Amino acid sequence: MTKKDRRIAILGGGGLGVCAALELAQRGYRVQIFEEHQEPLKKASYANEGKIHVGFIFAMDRSFQTAGKMIDGAIHFFDYLSRWTDAKPEACVSTPFYYLVHKGSLLNAGQLDAHYQKCVDYFGQVQSKTKKRYVGLFDTLEAELLPKAEIDGIGDPEWIDDVFRTTEYSLEPRYIAEKLTLALNQNPEIEAHFSSKVTGVSQVGNGLKVEYLQDGLALSDTFDEVINTAWNGLLEIDRTMGISPIGEWSFRYKFGNKLLIPLKEADLPSCTMVLGPYGDTVNFKGKGAFLSWYPIGRTAWSSEHRPPEWDSMYAKEERMKVFHGSFEELKKRIPSLGNLDFPIGSVDPVGGAILALGNSDVDQKKSRLHDRFEVGLRSFGNYHTIDTGKYTLIPLLAMQIADRVEGIA
Ligand SMILES: Cc1cc2nc3c(=O)[nH]c(=O)nc-3n(C[C@H](O)[C@H](O)[C@H](O)COP(=O)(O)OP(=O)(O)OC[C@H]3O[C@@H](n4cnc5c(N)ncnc54)[C@H](O)[C@@H]3O)c2cc1C
Repeated sequence: MTKKDRRIAILGGGGLGVCAALELAQRGYRVQIFEEHQEPLKKASYANEGKIHVGFIFAMDRSFQTAGKMIDGAIHFFDYLSRWTDAKPEACVSTPFYYLVHKGSLLNAGQLDAHYQKCVDYFGQVQSKTKKRYVGLFDTLEAELLPKAEIDGIGDPEWIDDVFRTTEYSLEPRYIAEKLTLALNQNPEIEAHFSSKVTGVSQVGNGLKVEYLQDGLALSDTFDEVINTAWNGLLEIDRTMGISPIGEWSFRYKFGNKLLIPLKEADLPSCTMVLGPYGDTVNFKGKGAFLSWYPIGRTAWSSEHRPPEWDSMYAKEERMKVFHGSFEELKKRIPSLGNLDFPIGSVDPVGGAILALGNSDVDQKKSRLHDRFEVGLRSFGNYHTIDTGKYTLIPLLAMQIADRVEGIA
């Protein structure tokens, strides 16, 4: 069978599904994508913070496997993305992150510093081996504990004990989603079915039958290879193939409020508060800001195989309430937020589902939500299921699934 004759279905047209389709098309395959929403890339890969993690946040995983995995993903992120889009890093990169050690943090500054320096060392090893530039721009990684006297300008010492200056960055995800959507629409080797919800997959002879609902009609088609990248729908579809998650899991709904106004670098520091149920601010310069405060923004939790349809469950007023509550809490800790002047119409409080192994929250030291090393690709014959784990890992996983389909890995 030639590459073009092989029938490949990708379930889910989010970040991973679209990158995998673009890579497979580039390697000479024809691909069909099934996406339940009417548009691609409008779910977690749109609503997220865009942080290209270099492992700092995963300090509770003492095995270092999660941080190592993130660094591998981060180093390759932009280089692989450039295979599929003409995205420019300068057009979407944030200001560098400060890590603010919140009072009550699960780890103190000394413990965090030890972890950060390990990340810096491992990043150096991976970078010198691959020669790839982190977020398309940088060869080095830094994390430096600032003198106490410098905390004041960044975080309020009433809440913040210590501050690290780092060179970790975010890339604005809506810009990347737009670029990927354009590449998808322009690719004649990819056939995308929107408003098409996959309801099950089953083995039929050597093939796999994909059943889906399209505009209320129950349809099906048979494929040689099926790749499940449906994130919020992942486990429910896997279940129809008799595949279980590797352990206890949970879905959370988390708001990532966007402020759609251009900012100057000095207007707002990009900050991650560690380590526990705190929050983040991201300054995307011309592309606005991302703001999240976990105790208010993490509004729902489910350990069902598929979480409720959270995206359609919150009225505009409820979303704005989450924004206002989060903003007030963040302002106490990062005072420069109080100086921001923005029309209320520029607030876009979108949320997204997060799948993770573990069923206790991040305030618990032993929570498995502090790890992400068990995520990634699992293959069962010609059926492949991918728990993306983090946005950071999308391009790397897209390359891995293409290698798997080609029989290289
Ligand atoms: C608020 C927030 C902040 C985050 N911040 C970061 C961050 O800073 N850095 C980071 O690395 N990660 C972050 N994440 C996690 C990151 O967003 C996800 O890991 C990543 O986007 C998942 O990509 P995906 O392609 O697997 O899922 P998605 O982009 O959600 O795509 C899955 C697609 O599958 C579709 N689908 C679902 N079920 C079906 C079905 N039955 N049939 C057909 N289609 C279906 C969905 O509609 C969706 O389009 C964050 C997540 C959230 C919610």
